[in-house]
Amino acid sequence: MRTLLSVSATFLLALPTFAAPTPAPAPRPVVQAAIESSLTTAGGRIRQFAFDADPATYFASDRNPTKTDHLTLTFDRPVTLKSVAVVTGRPNGDDVLTDGVLEVSADGAAFESAATFEKGKVTADVGRSVKAVRVRPTADLKAPLVVREFTINTDPRVVTFRYPVEFTLDVTDAPEMREWAEKVVRVCERQYPMICDLLASEGFRPPAQIRMTFRASYNGVAEAGGGRITGSVKYFKSHPEDVGAMVHETAHCVQNYRARGLPGWLVEGIADYVRFWKFEPGTAGRLNPERAKFDASYRTSAAFLAFVAGKYDSQLVTKLNALMREGKYSVEAWKTLTGKTVEELNQEWRQSLVR
Ligand SMILES: [Zn+2]
Repeated sequence: MRTLLSVSATFLLALPTFAAPTPAPAPRPVVQAAIESSLTTAGGRIRQFAFDADPATYFASDRNPTKTDHLTLTFDRPVTLKSVAVVTGRPNGDDVLTDGVLEVSADGAAFESAATFEKGKVTADVGRSVKAVRVRPTADLKAPLVVREFTINTDPRVVTFRYPVEFTLDVTDAPEMREWAEKVVRVCERQYPMICDLLASEGFRPPAQIRMTFRASYNGVAEAGGGRITGSVKYFKSHPEDVGAMVHETAHCVQNYRARGLPGWLVEGIADYVRFWKFEPGTAGRLNPERAKFDASYRTSAAFLAFVAGKYDSQLVTKLNALMREGKYSVEAWKTLTGKTVEELNQEWRQSLVR
């Protein structure tokens, strides 16, 4: 169902273009990782399932690997790898890795063997600085590569994928965009935990697969719905810096609202709040206090959300999202959450814009 989420971001075209500098990375007490493979995923068994601290989920390849294939976990920076264990094969015991090695790399480029798989499992004490670990078959296999879990003991800690996701890319209409589009997909995957935390609600599991397609025949900027994002070849060729537009669409995929009659301004306002207040803060530009209105949608509504969240409830967006997703949103929510009506909040916000 595309319902409200198919509302496109074409509106952004009517606004002045704002520079989108890369935000300064916040200091992180832990290290993040990425997981890549030469093999394509089969049947929704995505790569991140191999590093999600859940042995019930697993990565599975769609073809039988050869000696040149791999599944590689790369850390954002080198960490001291004390030990590593990898379990392969499906939970029912099928497709364990018969011929393979666990390899480690200090720089993410040159790998050396750390241990050999036996009965589909491996453990190794390493005790040195490592940037990447990978599973590599040592023969052409007669079964797909199935990796259930990497378990690592490192200093500092590397975080597992709390919201496993994999974007698949379709650039059939513009193959020359592939390199750029792959970077965009990596950005969206990297932002996924932030988006999913902000838009969490009880019992909700965000989609684990999102398909991003660039179409020559699509005349908007981008749209999203049902785990699919469509972007315009023409627009993104002339605005390659507008990665934030795809973070906005990724937020729509996580919103996953299905209730009828939800206010479109709030759907778009939350998506632009993700983009302009979390992904690239400080880039939304200034608003005209004379014309600003809470329900003007997109970044204007996002600014309103940021104001109310800052003044009344830092969890405001998370709470509003939960109400929207559960079909329980009404205008009374503002009074319940802040003690003020939305009109009163609108006045306070507009006053705050006057300088
Ligand atoms: Zn949108």
